[in-house]
Amino acid sequence: MATKLNQIHEGKAKKVFATNDPTALIHEFKDDATAFDGKKKGQILGKGSVNAQISAALFRLLEDHGVKTHFRELLDDRNMLTDKLNMLAVEVVVRNVAAGSLAKRIGYEEGIKLKKPIVEFYYKRDDLGDPIINEDHIYELGIATESQISEIRNTGLKVNNILKSFFDELGLTLVDFKLEFGLKDGQLKLGDEISPDTCRLWDKETGEKMDKDRFRRDLGRVEDAYQEVLSRVKGITKVGGKF
Ligand code: ADP
Ligand code: UDP
Repeated sequence: MATKLNQIHEGKAKKVFATNDPTALIHEFKDDATAFDGKKKGQILGKGSVNAQISAALFRLLEDHGVKTHFRELLDDRNMLTDKLNMLAVEVVVRNVAAGSLAKRIGYEEGIKLKKPIVEFYYKRDDLGDPIINEDHIYELGIATESQISEIRNTGLKVNNILKSFFDELGLTLVDFKLEFGLKDGQLKLGDEISPDTCRLWDKETGEKMDKDRFRRDLGRVEDAYQEVLSRVKGITKVGGKF
């Protein structure tokens, strides 16, 4: 039985605790929400619980498809036991449809379907504002070796294929998402979370945004959207539940 020890990190969305097992961590998912580099702050009631449960379901799904993740066990509705990883200072974004910063960067309307998935990398450096970087920068910065970089890219695309068809069956378009990777005993594993905080999900029928953009853009019914995604993931609401 894993026991929570001292808190080793408090981030924007989670608290991270050491455990009695030195190779494991407990992530406590918070209701706090931030956007625009922490300039916008708020709370989404029940978000911690929803995101922990969705992340657990998605990590299990990915493991079933042979993707190595840090996930061990959901201890209760907002505490997740994981492997302790040495995190790489890079955020990996995979996109199927233009939205957010990509739409701005390349002058596309939001909603334009991309010819093929685009993989992007962002350097996790708050003081630099998490700039977009490429594979050469990752190598230059010593974040990963060349073979790890290609593994990260390939895993990102594999995760995209798995999640895109999973969400499609739930009546949701997977527009884009962010992944974080870390190393355990030299092996790359997927870390952090996969949730409506880190994915863009659009209802296939209505086009409604079912993710953190409801909070970022003050669209209202934020809690309802997160709950609706959870009930579809759990199979409670079937495809095309009205939102
Ligand atoms: P942030 O710190 O960026 O605001 P969070 O609130 O989500 O983000 O905090 C979670 C922190 O834990 C992040 O820094 C993330 O990189 C890190 N992390 C996620 N998974 C693991 C893991 N398995 N081992 C070690 N650190 C992890
Ligand atoms: N994303 C994230 N954390 C970040 C930045 C982006 O989870 O620090 C996710 C975001 O929710 C979206 C995708 O990555 O699903 C692409 O985000 P984008 O680059 O468009 O930035 P945004 O416009 O969301 O700031």
